[in-house]
Amino acid sequence: MPLGFEYRCDACDYEWMLFSTGLSIGPTQWGFRKFTCFSCQTFLSISKTIDRNSWKVWLENNQSSLINNTLLNELKVEIDRRLDNARGLTPVKLDFNSMRCPTCQKDDLLELPFGEHPMRCPQCLTLSGNSINNDRLSIYRFE
Ligand SMILES: [Zn+2]
Ligand SMILES: [Zn+2]
Repeated sequence: MPLGFEYRCDACDYEWMLFSTGLSIGPTQWGFRKFTCFSCQTFLSISKTIDRNSWKVWLENNQSSLINNTLLNELKVEIDRRLDNARGLTPVKLDFNSMRCPTCQKDDLLELPFGEHPMRCPQCLTLSGNSINNDRLSIYRFE
């Protein structure tokens, strides 16, 4: 069940609600980097490194979720390209630094933890949105 977060903008007093979206690229059990969109509350987990075999296995189970999203599919193509340039089963590092958010496609994903940064207000577009139901943060579980 999606959990909604209510925000209020410190700059213009606008109030809105967001529901989290959790996405991942590649297996995450051996370490991952987590990116956050502070406009739409999307969390994107990306494997730190990937090798040809684990990428292939992961794709078999998850490819459908990538194909429906242009930006996720672009990341997939980029990972394919890097693996094609690697020798044999050598893992490659997925050192992406800036990415457009695959959900709202408007903001960039940041590698800052959720909650450490105000959200972007959909009305005045400044980063001034603070949660007005902080108590719910404590029961929210990351994937
Ligand atoms: Zn977004
Ligand atoms: Zn605002």
